[in-house]
Amino acid sequence: MHESGIAEDLAAIVLETARRVNLSKVTKVNISFGQMIQIVPDIFEFAFRETVRNSIAEDAELDIEIVPVKMKCMNCGSDFQVKENRFACNICRSTDLGIIQGKELFIKSIEGE
Ligand SMILES: [Zn+2]
Repeated sequence: MHESGIAEDLAAIVLETARRVNLSKVTKVNISFGQMIQIVPDIFEFAFRETVRNSIAEDAELDIEIVPVKMKCMNCGSDFQVKENRFACNICRSTDLGIIQGKELFIKSIEGE
C-alpha cells in the first residue's frame, strides 16, 4: 500500500504551501495522479486524512483527477491511450513503447482562506 507514503509527501507539500501563503485553513486540494501510479483514491484519501489530522488541512476536500496513460510506439511512431493495461501498439503490436503521460503525481492547486 504505497498510498500512505504518497499521502504523507503530498500533505507535507500542502501544509508547507499553506504556511508560505499564510492560509489559516485549507479548504480544498486538487491533485493529479497518472494512472500508472496506481493510486486507489479511497485509500489515498484515508491516508491523507490520517496525515493531516489536527492540522489546518484536516477539513480540506480532496479532488483527485486520474490522468490516463498515453504511450508512443518507438517502432511506428503512433501514440495511443493505454486501455486495460494492454501495453502494445494499436497499429503494429510492437511493445517497444515510451510513456508520454500517466506517471504524473502532483498537486494542481490548493484552496483556502
Ligand atoms: Zn506501432
